Amino acid sequence: MGDWLARVVFPDGRVLFANWHSNSCAVGDQLYAGFLPADGERERIDPETELPARPDLPVSDADRLIPVRLTCDGREWLALFCPDRNMLAGPLGDFFTESLQWDFQLFDLRGQLHLVQWGLATTVCGLPVKGEGQEVPFFHVDRRSKDGPAPAPWRDLFAQWNGGLVCRDCLRGTLLSSKDALGEWDNPGQTTVAPSQTRNLARLCLILLALGVTGFMLAWFSDVIFGGV
Ligand SMILES: [Zn+2]
Repeated sequence: MGDWLARVVFPDGRVLFANWHSNSCAVGDQLYAGFLPADGERERIDPETELPARPDLPVSDADRLIPVRLTCDGREWLALFCPDRNMLAGPLGDFFTESLQWDFQLFDLRGQLHLVQWGLATTVCGLPVKGEGQEVPFFHVDRRSKDGPAPAPWRDLFAQWNGGLVCRDCLRGTLLSSKDALGEWDNPGQTTVAPSQTRNLARLCLILLALGVTGFMLAWFSDVIFGGV
């Protein structure tokens, strides 16, 4: 347990380093140019070689993200490097790809595979699904019926970043989303009513209700006071 060294291998063979937090089974998105030799136990990043990062900038467009291979602790997965931030964009752990398979459907829209959060009518990249696409087996567990089809095999869509079969905007969008404590994903660009909008609607309804009750009470009082005159 603790911090280990993760290697980040770029397509041109360049290697950078990241911190692997074994407690959370995830790497940090900060990158380093060098590492310290094993101190009797394991190699670690050299904090003196931290690369300048720009975490406040937006994540680069999909076509500018660079696929990199992460290796650490016997694990290996494909992640994306963000040149604008000069940081990893994710996935920061191989658990993320499994998580997608619990929460997203995969649709074939005109020969390209897109991700759709369960129950939504548009893909993560914003395309309508209804009547357009063919669902491709992807769910690890079929939620619709206990008698449904067998679970789909694990599939790392990020490993298919190159080739054009899987929509890069959808994959990028899942990295920008996050899962809250209830397991719900927020999806930028999705046509759902955001929680803040829901709260505003609820407030408006309460105000209208209060105005209606006040009006009714005023009418009732005036009727009681003046009705008999
Ligand atoms: Zn898409």
